[in-house]
Amino acid sequence: MAATSQDPAAATPRRKAGRHRGEGQWAVGHFTPLNGNEQFKKDDDGLNVRTRIETIYSKRGFDSIDPNDLRGRMRWWGLYTQRRPGIDGGKTAVLAPEELDDEYFMLRVRVDGGRLTTRQLRVVGEISQEFARGTADITDRQNIQYHWIRIEDVPEIWNRLEAVGLSTTEACGDTPRVILGSPVAGIAEDEIVDGSWAVDEIQRRVIGNPAFSNLPRKFKSAISGSPLLDVAHEINDVSFVGVRHPELGPGFDLWVGGGLSTNPKIGRRLGAWVPLEEVPEVFEGVISIFRDHGYRRLRNRARLKFLLADWGTEKFRRVLEEDYLGRRLTDGPAPEQPVARWRDHIGVHRQRDGRYYVGFAPRVGRVDGATLTKIAELAEAHGSGRLRTTVEQKMIVLDVEEDQVAPLSAGLEALGLATTPSPFRRGTMACTGIEFCKLAIVETKARGAALIDELERRIPEFDEPITINLNGCPNACARIQVADIGLKGQLVTGPDGQQVEGFQVHLGGALGLEAGFGRKVRGLKVTADELPDYVERVLKRFQEEREDGERFAS
Ligand code: SF4
Repeated sequence: MAATSQDPAAATPRRKAGRHRGEGQWAVGHFTPLNGNEQFKKDDDGLNVRTRIETIYSKRGFDSIDPNDLRGRMRWWGLYTQRRPGIDGGKTAVLAPEELDDEYFMLRVRVDGGRLTTRQLRVVGEISQEFARGTADITDRQNIQYHWIRIEDVPEIWNRLEAVGLSTTEACGDTPRVILGSPVAGIAEDEIVDGSWAVDEIQRRVIGNPAFSNLPRKFKSAISGSPLLDVAHEINDVSFVGVRHPELGPGFDLWVGGGLSTNPKIGRRLGAWVPLEEVPEVFEGVISIFRDHGYRRLRNRARLKFLLADWGTEKFRRVLEEDYLGRRLTDGPAPEQPVARWRDHIGVHRQRDGRYYVGFAPRVGRVDGATLTKIAELAEAHGSGRLRTTVEQKMIVLDVEEDQVAPLSAGLEALGLATTPSPFRRGTMACTGIEFCKLAIVETKARGAALIDELERRIPEFDEPITINLNGCPNACARIQVADIGLKGQLVTGPDGQQVEGFQVHLGGALGLEAGFGRKVRGLKVTADELPDYVERVLKRFQEEREDGERFAS
């Protein structure tokens, strides 16, 4: 299957053009680009923009950037133009892209498996302070995102990141994005299987490989051998979830076709058990199906979930086995329902080697370069130098001896990083929002942080796991559809009849084996000012009316 994206015909098992020709599927012989994105990807591989950034754009400045690179291929290296300050959400849909573009970039650093060393974190912190006005957000896909990046500084930033083994390669774009991994892989007492080797091997084989750099759209993946189901496997294009096969032992249950945003879908099991050493091969098979058969005509139908919906799991598995693996997969069991109430690893937990890991909670993933540097110092002083990011915008310090847990926790608390956070701080996430995102309609990060503070003050006795996710637009970057309380940013009518920032409310979404999407509460929209009152009312009513053991989503 090795081929370059410049030569799709060589990459795909060519068949006669058939009735799916109109979907732009390479596998049925349809290679003519059917939209602007497909055209610029055909014109030049997104990976090739790096050379132009290094040799031309960083030297001649923002105005020298080709528009197809600026709003297209630069994503292949983690770069998005950020929103010009001062443009309100009402203008998001009406302004042309060039009117929304600032001359600064968001830059996403991929952290595959969420694994960081203190050496890496120090470099991340230094770059933040030197080149990104101190910004650095932990994302809900374990990445780190900078803002205010100048194109002139990008080559130097890459040099520094790559010197410590980090990269921005394919952090955005129609590519294999960061591979989510259990934040406690290799250390958890209850781990079924450690997927770290597979994360590394997939990175080595797939990331930056031109055979996989022109996909119909983004391709999200997750690997976790934790019984806590701690990587949101339900909403990735492909996931490998730790299970014990009754005869063959530990391995992974294969899920495909999850994804939020337009037409959200929970991933589906193919009923196949995959041993650790076969995960990279099966990953390559699934991503190749997506490349070859994925729909390329309409961007909002291009994710793998749409192909799976048309094919069904039986056909998907058959094509994977017959056309891509050349062998049958082994049937296997489903994962079991986790017993833990939270799956985020916050707090102090014993590792299997007798040491401890300590998970802590910044507010809505917002940290900064100076804080990251101090976290690195603490992790070095009290741990072994290993850290992890989580899919809840949180972090973990690993390998802490028992007598170092208290001083580490105190040091983190002094930085405002709670190791015993309230359920609100623990369970609230927010996307980037209008501060930097060109698609945003409302502000999210500051609002999410303020909501946490208000709820802590108003309902200090609340002790149930709860997830409150805020999005700045109808997209799904903060997973609103699977939150207990999902808040989708939009303009709403305020008390005096004016359009103001607010949210459409979705209630009762969940991840886990009972995963499902929250109900859009008909007509229920709250202004941003009303938000704390509204959430307080909902939570208090739940407290008063819940039955024994009832969860918010039930
Ligand atoms: Fe931007 Fe919308 Fe994603 Fe938030 S959800 S980061 S506003 S695209």
